[in-house]
Amino acid sequence: MDLVSRLADVDARIADAARAAGRDPSELTRIVVTKFHPAALVDELYALGVRDVGENRQQELTRKVGEVARADGLTWHFIGQAQTNKARAIRAAASVVHSVDRARLADALDAAGRDTAQEGGILDVFLQVNLTSDPGRGGVPPHEVERLAEHVAGLATLRVRGVMGVAPLDEGAASAFERLAAARDAVARVVPGATAMSAGMTADFADAVAAGATHLRIGSAITGPRPERG
Ligand SMILES: *Cc1c(COP(=O)(O)O)cnc(C)c1O
Repeated sequence: MDLVSRLADVDARIADAARAAGRDPSELTRIVVTKFHPAALVDELYALGVRDVGENRQQELTRKVGEVARADGLTWHFIGQAQTNKARAIRAAASVVHSVDRARLADALDAAGRDTAQEGGILDVFLQVNLTSDPGRGGVPPHEVERLAEHVAGLATLRVRGVMGVAPLDEGAASAFERLAAARDAVARVVPGATAMSAGMTADFADAVAAGATHLRIGSAITGPRPERG
């Protein structure tokens, strides 16, 4: 299959999963994860109508934002682990950050928003929840997500959209995404309107749609296998 047919195939599977769950496919945002691929792939996707792309490393994100041929209407989502000292560069390049998992990172993104070219703009953020039992993985533990939400909601230049999660490898995705949906409900109780849920990758996006995901981050099913990281 080529890029056109892989994209169409994934979109058809997303629509099937949405209908099976009694949901409207148009309420889902499909983000194409382009990490490790050249900026030329983003250009190809753009020509096919893709307007949401995701990257997980700041340097690669920054480089590609500068390299793409067309950017009007294109939304860059940052989905990777973020170091606090990269907050300024991430904020300058992305309009959505899915991986806010600690107050210090949120503070740094907020500070960057107060004095960059984007001044006055609002950065959409998702609070990443750790769905594994390994504290070394990214994400705030589920029982701490409400407190983090309250903190981030108090920052003037950030808007909490909801939660983000990655299913663990040693557990079925469906049960992990149920915990993420519970965390989403907890966040929405303290931040009204923060009802979004970023979940679902190549292997598990149908489970994520069934569990209530609103933002799907899909890479290899659309892009094909990733090249070796350089
Ligand atoms: C790479 C990545 C994805 C996409 O993974 P695929 O399995 O290729 O769909 C989604 N989310 C995050 C956080 C990633 O790093």
